[in-house]
Amino acid sequence: MTSPVYPRVYAFICGHHTIPKERMIAGTTGLITIPIPAFVIEHPTGLFVFDTGFNRLVYEDVASYFPAEALKPVEFHFSPEEELPTQMRNAGFDPDSVRLVANSHLHYDHCGGNVLFPQATVMVQRDEWEAASNAPADKAGYRKVDFHTGQTMDLVEGERDVFGDGSVVLTPTIGHTPGHQSLHVRHAGGVAVLAGDACYMADTLTADDKLPDISVTEDPESYLRSLESLRALHRSGSLVFVGHDPDFWSKQPLAPKPLLG
Ligand SMILES: [Zn+2]
Repeated sequence: MTSPVYPRVYAFICGHHTIPKERMIAGTTGLITIPIPAFVIEHPTGLFVFDTGFNRLVYEDVASYFPAEALKPVEFHFSPEEELPTQMRNAGFDPDSVRLVANSHLHYDHCGGNVLFPQATVMVQRDEWEAASNAPADKAGYRKVDFHTGQTMDLVEGERDVFGDGSVVLTPTIGHTPGHQSLHVRHAGGVAVLAGDACYMADTLTADDKLPDISVTEDPESYLRSLESLRALHRSGSLVFVGHDPDFWSKQPLAPKPLLG
């Protein structure tokens, strides 16, 4: 019997975003500056990227990229040095060798960097692709320039064992968007979950008074069901890496240190 593969996972913070805090935790006021994580999974067969951060239009030409009325009080903090391929090179990886990219979903803070991996096939849930492609142009979460890139798409339906060895599995966690997915990664201690926006904040995993404003999710009922599945994994001892929690991410090892493995 061959021994199981334990991929190594690296986390990169690709800029920050200032937004109303109530979006992350309902009932709060003021603004919060959240990190924008992206991940490189090092599998024996190659590098796999999960989420790619902002589009470089954020610093090149934000006026053409993002509707001005949606911008306030939102602020982007993003520079060329924070782009994922640049950070990968600095950490000793060759971004040009990446053949597979997956997005948790197609909001601009998760797929804006896809275009920087032109040689890669992009894996998203079919439901997400359809929702994003059919969204009106002024819908703030979806910017078509981020995902209508001409890249080869691999439209996933349900779970997908990315390498066929059970080590890295795309797992639907719908609700935040119609085709949101999280990534399960096997490690020596069990399963770790890169939750994406199925859970923004660490407190949300344990406290019912720390839920986000679910009225702005695409499907609140599904969102809560997906959150419950993440909470169950958390309770059973699985590591759950939440989407945008500044305190949580300030305590995690970032590349070139491995997050896992
Ligand atoms: Zn997000």
